Amino acid sequence: MGASSECYDVVIAGGGTAGLALACALADALETARITVVDRAPLSRQGAAKEALTEPRAFALSAGAKRMLTVLGAWPSLAAHAQPVTAVDITDSSLEDAFRPVLVTYDNTVDGAEPATYIVEQGRLREALLAAAAERATIGLIGGARAVGFKCHEHGVSIELVGRDGHTCLRAALLVAADGRQSPLRAAAGIGVVRWRYPQSGITTTVGLEQPHAGRATQHFLPSGPFAILPLPGDKASITWTEDEERARAILALDDAGFLAEVAKRFGYRLGAITLAGPRASWQLDMHLARALIAERFALVGDAAHGVHPIAGQGLNLGLRDVAALAEVIADAARLGLDIGSVAVLERYERWRRLDSALSAAAFDALNRLFSNDWTPLRSARDFGLGLVERMPGLKRLFVAEAAGLAGDVPRLLRGKPA
Ligand SMILES: Cc1cc2nc3c(=O)[nH]c(=O)nc-3n(C[C@H](O)[C@H](O)[C@H](O)COP(=O)(O)OP(=O)(O)OC[C@H]3O[C@@H](n4cnc5c(N)ncnc54)[C@H](O)[C@@H]3O)c2cc1C
Repeated sequence: MGASSECYDVVIAGGGTAGLALACALADALETARITVVDRAPLSRQGAAKEALTEPRAFALSAGAKRMLTVLGAWPSLAAHAQPVTAVDITDSSLEDAFRPVLVTYDNTVDGAEPATYIVEQGRLREALLAAAAERATIGLIGGARAVGFKCHEHGVSIELVGRDGHTCLRAALLVAADGRQSPLRAAAGIGVVRWRYPQSGITTTVGLEQPHAGRATQHFLPSGPFAILPLPGDKASITWTEDEERARAILALDDAGFLAEVAKRFGYRLGAITLAGPRASWQLDMHLARALIAERFALVGDAAHGVHPIAGQGLNLGLRDVAALAEVIADAARLGLDIGSVAVLERYERWRRLDSALSAAAFDALNRLFSNDWTPLRSARDFGLGLVERMPGLKRLFVAEAAGLAGDVPRLLRGKPA
């Protein structure tokens, strides 16, 4: 390691949504603390804007996540680009059916009139969080450097970075890994993962609509996986489409006209003709759960801690729940004068988040198995179940509160209060 060894209170490896949100939350909670975010990619707004042009993913952000982004000051610049989802339609009709009946439809609001979810493009979200982080004087941003390992000492942790200028070292009381699903630091900590791959790929793209969507989202369950239509501002929609791996490869290899025809076949024609309004991309889908969320002076958040099937659009929301819980645990410990990197403090975070992440991953896995299936007896039972849900407004309200991220032991930030 190099000789330079700068000292911080918290070093966050990974400047994705989870890492940047955590930096903002901690900067507000620990007013004079020095926090730094390190990312292998450049951490600039221009970089985020460029990434937005090639990254077609859009997220269904929960009402809780929106409340948190409001407290962190990222929501005002994001609001104009966020589409509230007013209602959700669920169907599992065959693509050959001339008429596609909606099996379940529900009003997507909580607490009177607050939308339970908002659709936001990934690039816009990252740009807003980068701007919020850059505005806070106690946050340092180091782009273009990889965190490759760390060592604990009695009163701190040394983090090894590799960048254009070779190896450098940072010191901190706590290191948080927000470095995504492959998480090099999780591996460096010796924390294993339970992981399985789905034989499915996630395809995303953006389409332009002839007729207004009125804020309605659609989840169309098809035998090879769900096809989700997520409304975006300006008569556009984001498509998140799970497809059998081999067929996904063939579809992605088509020219624009062929690709659009495949999208249109699944989209249907109730909003008139559709056009391609953005690039396409695909992801290999897996489920993974870290075997532990903490070690000495070390914690995992976001996809570094867990990855779930996108069937319910909850991966990032779970990561933001980690962020809110960890920020609260650290803020409470600092108020009591405790060592924020000690295992005794971090254990509260692990207890709080571990069960919820595991249960969510299992639930989304089960949903995928139940719905990505065309076995007739199962399909009949499933349609019967959905028919019952359609007749039970109380149950629908429960599902909406869950999607809004406002059920269970909700951290302060997700309730719209400072950590
Ligand atoms: C097809 C698809 C659709 C989805 N839809 C939704 C949805 O609708 N709603 C939802 O809530 N979630 C959704 N998700 C999940 C969501 O995309 C992820 O949960 C979320 O992006 C994870 O954010 P993160 O900040 O934890 O990790 P990432 O976004 O992966 O960020 C990790 C960061 O760490 C950096 N990094 C990596 N290694 C290092 C290193 N060694 N040193 C320094 N930096 C490093 C990377 O450059 C990156 O910036 C979807 C996922 C897929 C695949």
